[in-house]
Amino acid sequence: MKVLVVNAGSSSIKYQVVDMTDESVLCKGLVDRVGIPGSTLEHKPAGKDEVVIKKDLPDHTAGMQLVLETLVSPEHGVLSSMDDIGAVGHRVVHGGEAFASSVVIDDEVKKVIRECFDIAPLHNPPNLMGIDACTELMPNVKHVAVFDTAFHQSMTPENFMYAVPYDAYEKFRVRRYGFHGTSHFFVAHRAAEMLGKPYEECKIITLHIGNGGSVGAIKDGRVIETSMGFTPLEGLVMGTRSGDIDPAVVFFLMDKLGMNTAEANNYFNKKAGLLGLSGVSNDLRDVEEAAREGNEKAQIALKVYHNRVKGYIGKYMALLNGCDCIVFTAGVGENGIDARAAICTDMDFLGIKMDFEKNKVRGKEVDVSAADSKVRIFIIPTNEELVIARDTYGLAK
Ligand code: ADP
Repeated sequence: MKVLVVNAGSSSIKYQVVDMTDESVLCKGLVDRVGIPGSTLEHKPAGKDEVVIKKDLPDHTAGMQLVLETLVSPEHGVLSSMDDIGAVGHRVVHGGEAFASSVVIDDEVKKVIRECFDIAPLHNPPNLMGIDACTELMPNVKHVAVFDTAFHQSMTPENFMYAVPYDAYEKFRVRRYGFHGTSHFFVAHRAAEMLGKPYEECKIITLHIGNGGSVGAIKDGRVIETSMGFTPLEGLVMGTRSGDIDPAVVFFLMDKLGMNTAEANNYFNKKAGLLGLSGVSNDLRDVEEAAREGNEKAQIALKVYHNRVKGYIGKYMALLNGCDCIVFTAGVGENGIDARAAICTDMDFLGIKMDFEKNKVRGKEVDVSAADSKVRIFIIPTNEELVIARDTYGLAK
């Protein structure tokens, strides 16, 4: 069976076609500027050159229509007909407390995705637009929702509750949910294989560090805690997000800068993090470059960034009572040689000792721990699309 994986954002649609007989990726692509003049589709068939198609796409249905036409086109296509697609897997960011695993989409599932609009206003509405567009164009195949939050639903109240009046949870479901679940799931399972231990017996700390970032603490096959919370704003310092902060700073700056809630949301999500602190960029490479050139704010930003990750490793080591391995993944985790080295420096008290020579590697699955490190340190490239394709295949076949 061939599975189409769809990740629909507010103005973009990312897609892949995966052949489940050998899990090979037949093509991947990106529709950009959906609903904005100047829409494009970048389509990359495996082993062939990328093609760029320019066509105005007023909405997600028009975007998906172009994707489907491209998939079967005689020149750039990878399918002989639309009937080759056996199922479609959709990334959905928020499943609330309703879903601890992936599900076949029906009206009830769509209703829950809609109910989560309130707590995921930037993500769930476009995710649902993608689902609606695909179900309209492909009504005869199964559509599966794979949630970013599902893997973290194993958290228990002592780790998902905030210390605010209980009403906030009962009335508004205010609690920690966690995100990047498919990535934490994928690398945690690979890590267990690399440890040569049953997954259900491992203690693993997963560090998904990209433009967004989160840490997961996994014990006996279950997520105990993760650093993102009610929204993806909590936890690590990210490209443009503050991560953990004294909530009083929010009220104080709203007063001082005359911000309303929407403006404050934008400030802490889009103007903070590496970008806000360094004043240079949200891209770690730019901040590292500026720090090397002597930019003091960039140097401070990097230290805050690294220390936040170290702090979570320490916290999660305490929660797990030790750990077998820590795993670096996503853009920075897979490629950021200096960032990984800084995070793993002076961590030997916790049993973490990196081989700094082995660490000089990008985008490869490798063990970079020193021979006498009690905790293994792995770099594992993540593959969220493969998790979506596997779940979809599992539910559709
Ligand atoms: P997203 O969260 O948007 O999916 P990615 O996982 O693709 O992000 O990570 C993007 C980030 O990875 C970039 O902002 C960049 O800072 C970082 N990155 C990519 N390559 C390198 C590198 N060679 N060194 C340091 N950081 C890198």
